[in-house]
Amino acid sequence: MLPPRRITIVEADTPPLRLPWRNLVLAREGNEDWAVAFRCPCGCGTRLELMVLQEVKPNWSISIEQGGRPTLSPSIWLKSGCKSHFWLRNGKVIWI
Ligand SMILES: [Zn+2]
Repeated sequence: MLPPRRITIVEADTPPLRLPWRNLVLAREGNEDWAVAFRCPCGCGTRLELMVLQEVKPNWSISIEQGGRPTLSPSIWLKSGCKSHFWLRNGKVIWI
């Protein structure tokens, strides 16, 4: 079993182009969270970028548990490519 995924916070309004293999990156400017980026957990490598800024639609809400383990809501559903559909809870991917 691999350990739970963690999230790294970068001071920016967009996540970096280069992403870690498993972990997530949160772009935060000041005290405003903008976007989360990570690679699709199915292994296809697709870059996923989700807005967490509440003023835009669609947006996700994020909470970060102790140890940097992220929870995202609602679920993530890719409409093309691998069509993965999953929840990310407490750093763990739950496939639907
Ligand atoms: Zn995928």
